[in-house]
Amino acid sequence: MKPEELKALVYQLAESMGASPKEVQVRDMKHKWASCSAKGRLTFSRDLLSQDFGFIKEVVLHELLHLKIPNHGKLFKLLLKSYKETL
Ligand SMILES: [Zn+2]
Repeated sequence: MKPEELKALVYQLAESMGASPKEVQVRDMKHKWASCSAKGRLTFSRDLLSQDFGFIKEVVLHELLHLKIPNHGKLFKLLLKSYKETL
Protein backbone atom coordinates (compact mmCIF):
# COMPACT_ATOMS: atom_id res chain seq x y z
CA MET A 1 0.00 0.00 0.00
CA LYS A 2 1.21 3.54 -0.73
CA PRO A 3 1.33 6.28 1.94
CA GLU A 4 -1.55 8.10 0.21
CA GLU A 5 -3.63 4.91 0.29
CA LEU A 6 -2.98 4.49 4.00
CA LYS A 7 -4.02 8.09 4.65
CA ALA A 8 -7.17 7.60 2.57
CA LEU A 9 -7.99 4.47 4.59
CA VAL A 10 -7.45 6.38 7.85
CA TYR A 11 -9.85 9.16 6.84
CA GLN A 12 -12.40 6.71 5.52
CA LEU A 13 -12.44 4.68 8.74
CA ALA A 14 -12.34 7.88 10.82
CA GLU A 15 -15.53 9.04 9.17
CA SER A 16 -17.27 5.73 9.88
CA MET A 17 -16.24 5.96 13.53
CA GLY A 18 -17.08 9.63 13.94
CA ALA A 19 -13.46 10.37 14.81
CA SER A 20 -11.61 13.37 13.43
CA PRO A 21 -7.82 13.19 13.32
CA LYS A 22 -6.22 16.65 13.09
CA GLU A 23 -3.38 15.36 10.98
CA VAL A 24 -2.23 12.01 9.60
CA GLN A 25 1.37 11.33 8.75
CA VAL A 26 3.45 8.37 7.63
CA ARG A 27 7.12 8.28 8.56
CA ASP A 28 9.90 6.02 9.78
CA MET A 29 9.33 4.82 13.32
CA LYS A 30 11.80 2.64 15.14
CA HIS A 31 9.85 0.82 17.79
CA LYS A 32 6.17 0.90 17.03
CA TRP A 33 3.59 0.76 14.29
CA ALA A 34 1.80 3.96 15.13
CA SER A 35 1.17 6.66 17.69
CA CYS A 36 -1.49 9.16 18.62
CA SER A 37 -0.59 12.58 20.02
CA ALA A 38 -2.64 14.36 22.67
CA LYS A 39 -3.48 16.96 20.04
CA GLY A 40 -5.02 14.39 17.71
CA ARG A 41 -2.22 13.82 15.27
CA LEU A 42 -1.83 10.22 14.12
CA THR A 43 1.53 8.92 12.97
CA PHE A 44 1.99 5.60 11.20
CA SER A 45 5.21 3.74 10.56
CA ARG A 46 6.38 3.41 6.96
CA ASP A 47 6.96 -0.29 7.75
CA LEU A 48 3.23 -0.70 8.18
CA LEU A 49 2.70 -0.12 4.45
CA SER A 50 4.12 -3.54 3.60
CA GLN A 51 1.99 -5.48 6.09
CA ASP A 52 -1.18 -7.31 5.11
CA PHE A 53 -4.41 -5.34 4.84
CA GLY A 54 -6.12 -6.88 7.86
CA PHE A 55 -3.24 -5.93 10.12
CA ILE A 56 -3.00 -2.39 8.72
CA LYS A 57 -6.69 -1.90 9.32
CA GLU A 58 -6.43 -3.15 12.89
CA VAL A 59 -3.59 -0.71 13.65
CA VAL A 60 -5.55 2.16 12.08
CA LEU A 61 -8.69 1.33 14.07
CA HIS A 62 -6.64 1.12 17.25
CA GLU A 63 -5.12 4.58 16.78
CA LEU A 64 -8.40 6.17 15.69
CA LEU A 65 -10.09 4.80 18.77
CA HIS A 66 -7.46 6.55 20.90
CA LEU A 67 -8.89 9.84 19.65
CA LYS A 68 -11.95 8.94 21.69
CA ILE A 69 -10.45 6.80 24.45
CA PRO A 70 -6.86 7.50 25.53
CA ASN A 71 -6.31 4.24 27.44
CA HIS A 72 -6.57 0.49 26.82
CA GLY A 73 -9.35 -0.17 29.31
CA LYS A 74 -12.38 -2.43 29.04
CA LEU A 75 -14.39 0.00 26.92
CA PHE A 76 -11.48 0.47 24.52
CA LYS A 77 -11.19 -3.30 24.00
CA LEU A 78 -14.90 -3.74 23.60
CA LEU A 79 -15.23 -0.97 21.02
CA LEU A 80 -12.14 -2.04 19.10
CA LYS A 81 -13.55 -5.54 18.79
CA SER A 82 -16.87 -4.25 17.52
CA TYR A 83 -15.22 -1.88 14.99
CA LYS A 84 -13.04 -4.73 13.74
CA GLU A 85 -16.12 -6.84 13.15
CA THR A 86 -18.26 -4.18 11.53
CA LEU A 87 -15.94 -1.84 9.57
ZN1 LIG B 1 -2.94 1.95 22.05
